[in-house]
Amino acid sequence: MRVQRNPVVRFAPSPTGVLHLGGARTALFNYLFARHHNGRFLLRIEDTDRVRSAESVTESILESLRWMGLKWDGDMIIQSRRRDRHKAFCFRLWEMKRAYPCFCTLETLRRKREIAEKNSGDTRYDGTCRGLEEEEVRKRIQNGESHVLRFRVPEGETVFQDRVRERVQVSHDTLDDFVILRSDGMPVYQAAVVVDDHDMGITHVIRGDDHLSNTPKQILLYQAAGWPVPCFAHVPMILGPDKKRLSKRYGATSVEAYREAGYLPQALVNYLALLGWSPGDNREIMTLDELVFSFSLEGITKNPAVFDETKLVWLNGRIISGMDSVELVEKAAPWLIDSGLTDEDFIRNNPQYMIRFVELLKDRIRKLKDFAEKGGYFFRDPDQYDDKACKKHWKVPESGIRLKTLLPLLKQTEWTVEALEKTVRKAADEQQENAGQWIHPLRIALTGFGVSPGIFELAAVLGRDSVLRRIQNALKRLP
Ligand code: GLU
Repeated sequence: MRVQRNPVVRFAPSPTGVLHLGGARTALFNYLFARHHNGRFLLRIEDTDRVRSAESVTESILESLRWMGLKWDGDMIIQSRRRDRHKAFCFRLWEMKRAYPCFCTLETLRRKREIAEKNSGDTRYDGTCRGLEEEEVRKRIQNGESHVLRFRVPEGETVFQDRVRERVQVSHDTLDDFVILRSDGMPVYQAAVVVDDHDMGITHVIRGDDHLSNTPKQILLYQAAGWPVPCFAHVPMILGPDKKRLSKRYGATSVEAYREAGYLPQALVNYLALLGWSPGDNREIMTLDELVFSFSLEGITKNPAVFDETKLVWLNGRIISGMDSVELVEKAAPWLIDSGLTDEDFIRNNPQYMIRFVELLKDRIRKLKDFAEKGGYFFRDPDQYDDKACKKHWKVPESGIRLKTLLPLLKQTEWTVEALEKTVRKAADEQQENAGQWIHPLRIALTGFGVSPGIFELAAVLGRDSVLRRIQNALKRLP
């Protein structure tokens, strides 16, 4: 489908909680759509629910968006600051007789609803105040009677072409005269959204399909005001592996939590883009620019997407292993510093060492925090040795003899990967032993683990002093 030039979209989070994966994906799809079509991506904070909204939450949402690289255009709009404008809109609809005051008390409505639930099951507003005479309305208002404003839903149906779900048809019999302005003078969500989207020039509303039931009401408001109706695209939900709405049960669900767990923003963005959207081919690793280039609303799948943490972890690992080493050092640094393995000075003063560190580990790492969790031996001598590995490779008395034999050889050898390898293999050969029988005990001595990057590369990086010291430490522990 052709998209008009320079579309304007928005992400409109309610700051009632931190940014979750569903919201992050909505923001991302809006961003990709805007950038692909050379349009604008606006941000609106829907903080009209003052009780539940907090400024610190807004800040954390902004921080998550920035971290993901989703830069919005212009200043963000704060919905609560536009209350007068929303109110004026509601009053205008009243003037136009498209809305009317309703004096039914909450208590009356509750009672009617209870009765309806027992009888017809139809709990919609029964239209008591719909046909009140103007004179009566005037008097009741003069008497200070509390009232809301309700939108007068016309007969008929609303049909729209959703860009994901295609044709959506809703009979107005299923709607009731919904409230647009509360008795305390607060406009409700439906009115505020329509006014803001109109004033911001929004051409495409891309949002989760949990909003689908709001759309016919919003379209009615646009039409009543005589405003152009934007295009709608309702994106299917993200489900957990149990096929229910994604919840905390399946690991973290907030962007912040993924950041804290050592995921790269590129990986999260890449993963979220593919969660419910496809580029139409089998590409899996895509940068933000590539996503922008390939994005279209047509690529959004109609079925809900199922969240798969394993795939996200895999993607993260792939992106880490393909990353430029200098950049990776920068990314890994906070994790190393936080875990106390090293400090900023060391990292700054030993760039070559740090580059070798990330290069040796990056194919084995899935999350940034693994650099600290799996690579500690680059910064300190092991003080523990993996039980399983020891049982396998340290329990034979020859292991100690082999390491002891290596000590004087390693004292003399040239300190290069090739020379180190040659020395160890030659020593094994001379005893007519398999090189593995020498390499495994050495690996445990140097790292504390049974698996590690190539042992000669590692030894070359660690340096002679450290390698000799670690072998001596190990000899104290060997049988
Ligand atoms: N504030 C709404 C939410 O956070 C979004 C409204 C909209 O996109 O129209 O769910």
